[in-house]
Amino acid sequence: MIRYGQQDITQDDIDAVIAILKSINLTQGPTIAQFEQSVARHTGAKHAVAVSNATAALHIACLALDLGPGDWLWTTPNTFVASANCALYCGAQVDFVDTDSRSYNMCPVKLEEKLAAAAKIGKLPKIVIPVHLAGQPCDMAAIHALGQKYGFRIIEDASHAIGGRYQGEPIGNGRYSDITVFSFHPVKIITTGEGGMALTNNDHLSIRLGLLRSHGITRDPALMTQPLDGSWYYQQVALGYNYRLTDIQAALGVSQMTRLTQYVSRRHDIADRYNRLLTNLPLTLPWQHPDSYSAYHLYVIRLQLDKIQRTRLQVFDSLRAKDILVNLHYIPVHTQPYYQRMGFKAGDFPEAEGYYQEAISIPMHPRLTEAEQDFVIESLGEAMGL
Ligand SMILES: *Cc1c(COP(=O)(O)O)cnc(C)c1O
Repeated sequence: MIRYGQQDITQDDIDAVIAILKSINLTQGPTIAQFEQSVARHTGAKHAVAVSNATAALHIACLALDLGPGDWLWTTPNTFVASANCALYCGAQVDFVDTDSRSYNMCPVKLEEKLAAAAKIGKLPKIVIPVHLAGQPCDMAAIHALGQKYGFRIIEDASHAIGGRYQGEPIGNGRYSDITVFSFHPVKIITTGEGGMALTNNDHLSIRLGLLRSHGITRDPALMTQPLDGSWYYQQVALGYNYRLTDIQAALGVSQMTRLTQYVSRRHDIADRYNRLLTNLPLTLPWQHPDSYSAYHLYVIRLQLDKIQRTRLQVFDSLRAKDILVNLHYIPVHTQPYYQRMGFKAGDFPEAEGYYQEAISIPMHPRLTEAEQDFVIESLGEAMGL
């Protein structure tokens, strides 16, 4: 069985987890800060807040930026539903900006057009969430410039993108955004089982994120509104959640971080090889912006359906029949039944919908062998009837 993505767990990872299991702190211990510092150091972000998953990180990122009823959040339709759901958790409304035809990321030109129209009717977004699809960064300089002009805040959904770079700098350094979110689900670049992180350079946002992660409770006298009763004392100063990561997971994260650069470089080797060996098939291969060094979470091909006698469904099923567990990223969020009930319709975002008709994510992960890759390539040709 060849999966589209999967984790790599070494003996060092296992030893790191066992060491925590034998220690006193299974959660709320020092390994959390160690993991946070490791990711902050790698990205150059000032603060990092580890949480139970990226969905939780998106939720508290929206709350930290004061998203609430009456506000709008815009994201891309070509993403996992979590990038949009976070707005609904806060009682805000969601809208989408269609994608760019080459990168499949949020299109800054369409964003600007939509902002100009929204400004006229007083419905500008409070937050925009660009998503770095497949690990390739969005055009952050352009999106940030629009944020300055139209007054919205930016959360980067970098769930696919830890280890990637934009304009030569690590994704997550926050140069063009308020908060960046990473996911550590097993199919992503590094894993903690479940896990996520929110990064920011803003001291105030970092404090807010920390409070929201753990019930809105603080033990820091500087954050308390009343005098300390004693050393047992804590205060709830906001309404937060239990979105904590455990030390067991953080230990896995610290250990995985030591191989982040190696993982992304291996993913580039696999992509280069696909690029070389798939070049003669009727496919559109992943285009890379010159400013981008992708983390290559996914390798997405688009079938040129006018050049083959098979449907996308047939190609997909024929690969799956050979135990090549291809996947599809993504079903446009606005076409989900839940979103259709809010009034979105097929046809609203034609670029993302057209992409969806042709896209397949083929296997891409650091453990993929050359023999497996050759089998995928050969099977792909057969699946397309060539
Ligand atoms: C995986 C993913 C998420 C959610 O991550 P979890 O850690 O599973 O909550 C959010 N956005 C995107 C784009 C993702 O790929």
